[in-house]
Amino acid sequence: MWWIRSRAYWKRRAICKMIKKTPLIYDPKNLVNKGTIFSVKKIASRTIEVSIRVPMDFSFIAGQYIWLQIPKLKYPDQKGDTRMFSIASSPNKKGELAVIFRMSESGYKKTLVEMAPETEIIFSGPYGSLSLPDDRSRPVVFMAGGVGLAPFLAMTRFSDEVTSGHKITLVYANSNEEEAVYLDELSDIEKRNPNFEFIKQFGLLGKDQLLGLALPAALIFVSGPKDFVDDVGNFLIEHKVPLENLFFEQFYPAGAGRSELEQRLQSTRSDIVGLDYPYLLALENTNTHFVITDPNGIILYANKAAEDITGYSLAEMKGNTPRLWGGLMSADFYKELWRTIKDDRQAFYGEVKNRRKNQAEYYASIRVSPIIDSHDVLAGFVASEEDISEKKQAEKALETRIINIEREKNISERLAAIVRDADEPIIAKKLDGTITSWNHAAEQLYGYSAKEAVGKSIKMIVPQDRYAEIDNLLKVMEEGGTLEHYQTVRMKKNGSLVDVSISSSPIRDTAGKIVGVSVISLNITKEKEIDQAKTEFVSLASHQLRTPLSTIGWYTEMLLAGDAGKLNQGQKKYLGEVYRGNQRMVELVNALLSVSRLELGTFTVEPEPIDLVKLTRSVVDEQKSQIKEKKIKLTSSFGKNLPILQADQKLLRMVFQNLLSNAVKYTPAKGKIGLSLSLQDDDKAVLFKIADTGYGIPKNQYDRIFTKLFRADNVRDKDTEGTGLGLYIVKSIMEHSGGKVWFESKENEGSTFYVTLPLPGMKKKAGTKELS
Ligand code: ADP
Repeated sequence: MWWIRSRAYWKRRAICKMIKKTPLIYDPKNLVNKGTIFSVKKIASRTIEVSIRVPMDFSFIAGQYIWLQIPKLKYPDQKGDTRMFSIASSPNKKGELAVIFRMSESGYKKTLVEMAPETEIIFSGPYGSLSLPDDRSRPVVFMAGGVGLAPFLAMTRFSDEVTSGHKITLVYANSNEEEAVYLDELSDIEKRNPNFEFIKQFGLLGKDQLLGLALPAALIFVSGPKDFVDDVGNFLIEHKVPLENLFFEQFYPAGAGRSELEQRLQSTRSDIVGLDYPYLLALENTNTHFVITDPNGIILYANKAAEDITGYSLAEMKGNTPRLWGGLMSADFYKELWRTIKDDRQAFYGEVKNRRKNQAEYYASIRVSPIIDSHDVLAGFVASEEDISEKKQAEKALETRIINIEREKNISERLAAIVRDADEPIIAKKLDGTITSWNHAAEQLYGYSAKEAVGKSIKMIVPQDRYAEIDNLLKVMEEGGTLEHYQTVRMKKNGSLVDVSISSSPIRDTAGKIVGVSVISLNITKEKEIDQAKTEFVSLASHQLRTPLSTIGWYTEMLLAGDAGKLNQGQKKYLGEVYRGNQRMVELVNALLSVSRLELGTFTVEPEPIDLVKLTRSVVDEQKSQIKEKKIKLTSSFGKNLPILQADQKLLRMVFQNLLSNAVKYTPAKGKIGLSLSLQDDDKAVLFKIADTGYGIPKNQYDRIFTKLFRADNVRDKDTEGTGLGLYIVKSIMEHSGGKVWFESKENEGSTFYVTLPLPGMKKKAGTKELS
């Protein structure tokens, strides 16, 4: 937009030389600090000294100030929770910072004096460019009114401590002695330091004395309440003390240094409209903030936009410098500003943070240009400001967004790297099974490279007889389900099969929609081999145990039958126990053998036409004595048109036997058992149902009922006998035959077990062993 201004620029060129400078950007991070209240002391009748413990690395230049923020105002204060204070302590006093102030009714000050030690407090700074001159040969005169002493105290202390050699005269004015502070300390310094002179003034200030101090070479610093600064400042200016030698800390004397420019600008806002000053009228009406100052930065004129942006009225701004709403930048920033506009007589521009009258902070882009009159004398400065807070905010928001995007990108890149380098084969696929990612470990396990795999269907690694399984799994994932350690078989590139354990979970997009599936498949060939070895061992051991157990069985039977002579009652009783114990051992060994054969897959399935009713009846017959013994009432119902089923007699018998013996075992005396056989699923399957009124199964153990060697707590407590293998065998048999088994149960009410077998029945399977 520079070109829009170019006409005005060319006009102004005669008086302003402009160069483009790199803006100095204010970084609040460097200037916001935390401290804790160390002490709050009343050091004179109305003066308070607050010491704050600050980080050891906090540094400042004597003469600078800070803004102190109270975390929570106890008493309300219209001017808010933040105030500016000159630092009174010396920068040599590391880790501690003192400020002084006059007590007043302000809510801020009232809160501050009540703050307990160790309370946390936030401060920003240091700010301000007031400091001892580099040129030590120039005498320095400090003129302090009341607590305006603070910056001079810091400078005096510092100069004394480091024996800087500055020749300092401190004029300290107070209405009475009770109001004065640090008198003893300052007198002490005066005694030992020949370069320091201390002049106390109580009551009315004898100004003529001041003129004696204002030697042509002396640099005069004035600080104190506004009327003190006005009074002393104007007095010195009127007595021809050059403005270049005058420095004001906070307030500038109203009407100081009346240049011709200023005289013509000595008007109130309402006068301006009537002034015969067309350019000023134009300025008045633009909505860019404009301020005109004298060569010391003292405001002579501010337009309406400046009033709007800063919140101060023209009357409030006049006599002050723009530090009224600015001054939040580092000392270096202002040094650079002054050097550019005053020494180099060039335009300065930068971005600053300012504070409105209502204490709200705002960002502004500022431009300050020197005004050079026709005699080549610096007449003042013209400064414009543009509120860029919104732009800044937008920039910040964008920056945070970019950082977040970068962070996410980093995270996803890191994740991608983790996946790529993981030892576990990790695959991602879409919901239709198309592979989207294939890591290095997957390449090694399956033999396909990522290039060969990505874009292809996952069925590439699934044996054909398991296609239904994969479709099912994808469906489960699509519905948000997960899979943990699911054991299955996959196919490598060379066609060989590999046992894998699969864990898989859905992948969601940022909106939470499921878009794919991630799969970790572990090669469990080794584990399977170990399992196999264990099963083989069990099989062998059980087999070997059968012969001696049979021998024990026969001989005890013979002994019991009296074949070796008549036994007395005691002998009979003990042998009976041996016999029953042996029987139980035979059952256990048989069950173990069955389990190992089922697991090894070495058992045969020999289907033959079976009359299910007949089979059921014969199983019931076998267990009649136990049923009778427990006085259990057994009812059975057989559906019509039950087909003759193709099934392995032995296997099916084993299923029925197990379920019936469980029902008998786990039903207390005088209970009921109901048996039924019926057709199901539009006559496509046979259902065997056996319901009892027994102990039932505790709900929290439902999912373990069919696992190997599991026995529920409630039956173990009842001291019933069992191996925990029966239902495992039942389930294995049913699964191998394409059937299903499940149950319903309620503790202390009973259980119902269901077995279905689809028609036409079991499939033949060649094997080396029968289940016993
Ligand atoms: P067990 O040799 O212990 O009977 P099973 O494998 O046949 O072994 O059964 C496993 C467990 O299931 C049993 O220990 C018992 O806790 C429970 N169970 C099986 N059938 C029933 C039933 N009809 N009523 C109550 N609990 C049963």
